[in-house]
Amino acid sequence: QAKRGGRNQVCFFDPQVQGRLKARAQLEIDLRQALGRGELAVAYQRQVDARGGTVGAEALLRWRHPQRGKVPPAEFIPIAEQTRLIVELGEWVLEMACRQLVAWAEVPTTAGWTVSVNVSPVQFRESRFVDQVQAVLTRTGAAPSRLKLEVTESLLIHDPDEVRARMIALKALGVRLSLDDFGTGYSSLAYLRRLPLDQIKIDQCFVRELLEDQASAAIVETIISLSASLKLEVIAEGVETAAQQHCLASRGCQFYQGFLYGRPEASIAL
Ligand code: C2E
Ligand code: MG
Ligand code: MG
Ligand code: MG
Repeated sequence: QAKRGGRNQVCFFDPQVQGRLKARAQLEIDLRQALGRGELAVAYQRQVDARGGTVGAEALLRWRHPQRGKVPPAEFIPIAEQTRLIVELGEWVLEMACRQLVAWAEVPTTAGWTVSVNVSPVQFRESRFVDQVQAVLTRTGAAPSRLKLEVTESLLIHDPDEVRARMIALKALGVRLSLDDFGTGYSSLAYLRRLPLDQIKIDQCFVRELLEDQASAAIVETIISLSASLKLEVIAEGVETAAQQHCLASRGCQFYQGFLYGRPEASIAL
């Protein structure tokens, strides 16, 4: 017994590991209170068409911690997912984004803009998710056709038929569906054909390597032509340079998002 335990025992007294666990536990406690304390905000990052005109924006959650300052989503979204807090936070982002949509709809120059909202797989799989979306649309008066829900391929590792059924229910509300970070997950082309998607987002890792790496360029080209064949809208994310934009444009990319056009901001300047 003692012999068996000896070698595989995890050392819980490593001060570094313990320090990290403590910091994470504290972050979780703080995140639970962040919404009520007004520490959360939604930033919007512009999306443009081939001529550079703004067509909408992606809503991105921001957390300003009273002591730690800005905490990146890559750090707090996983905690929110593990604790299921993301269900509450996600609904809040959705509501904020829909209110923004209504505000844009009232101004002629922004009336046609869309808003994209990230939906965590944890949130998507909640049985009341479709009702939640419907309730927010009703509450805010936002036009469903201008709301894009961004989901990721990681959804599909669970029950593809269930995911498909839920997507169909969402489409029945009139909202649009976008597949975020495309090409990085379990992208099964068979599912792509069966899902009622409206848009594919080319992941920023391919855009970043576009000009240096032939394989990335080939993947981007393939995603763009695949989107065209499946009659899906295609948007590239993480566009930082004009050279990347030109390369994407020459391959027929329709829409663009990235630091080249604007950072995520509290409000988008006209
Ligand atoms: P994402 O949905 O793929 O969002 C795009 C991320 O790329 C954002 O990071 C954005 O700031 C960043 N980005 C945009 N343009 C560029 C660029 O040109 N260069 C580079 N290097 N980065 C660029 P952010 O805001 O840190 O968010 C990271 C991820 O956190 C998001 O990736 C999304 O998966 C998640 N996230 C953010 N807000 C929410 C939310 O409200 N709900 C959920 N479930 N997830 C969210
Ligand atoms: Mg996204
Ligand atoms: Mg993305
Ligand atoms: Mg991403």
